[in-house]
Amino acid sequence: MILKNLVVGPLATNCYIIGSESNEEGMIIDPGAEAEVILRNVKDLELEIKSIVLTHGHIDHIGALKEVKEATGAEVAIHTDDAQSFQENSVSTLLGLSYPTPLPADRLLKDGDSMGIGDLHFLVLHTPGHSPGGICLLGQGIMFSGDTLFNYGIGRTDLPGGSYSQLMNSIHTKLMTLPDNTTVYPGHGPDTTIGAERSGNPFLQA
Ligand SMILES: [Zn+2]
Ligand SMILES: [Zn+2]
Repeated sequence: MILKNLVVGPLATNCYIIGSESNEEGMIIDPGAEAEVILRNVKDLELEIKSIVLTHGHIDHIGALKEVKEATGAEVAIHTDDAQSFQENSVSTLLGLSYPTPLPADRLLKDGDSMGIGDLHFLVLHTPGHSPGGICLLGQGIMFSGDTLFNYGIGRTDLPGGSYSQLMNSIHTKLMTLPDNTTVYPGHGPDTTIGAERSGNPFLQA
């Protein structure tokens, strides 16, 4: 598996480019900003991007979506429950950033869906709390956690549609049930593992 992490935009969002070594198909997770940097890396990796997956609809994760979609022709996938806010763009102004033209999603995701590129398969885990339609993507022993779980942190729950109890429930029922050695790639900050978070994340201690 090809995995490239780019830190983009004023909120230092992690954009991930994933590729299958079997057929050079690729997927982009959260093209938050800096479309030209993302597209240059896609070119360098010689990947044909099939899907752009959004862990949720906040502006810092979709800022370069329009340009990246236009350049790659890839389908845009987002959970049903964030597709609305994504189109209304309501949270964008709250975060102090502007986003010119929201794009409709090509594919609406729900819990249990599978995203495939080449020989890689990722399971969609619906993890509401940071936003109503937040998702994590699990596969190949790794997980992309969006703004649900961070290295020794959790997502904020004070934005529209956020809920602390829902977020904790998502983390406990969907994420803490995974094996300790699952590597976690969050929406911001360094990667971690489920085991490290289980034992050391201050929000997960009894
Ligand atoms: Zn967010
Ligand atoms: Zn974010």
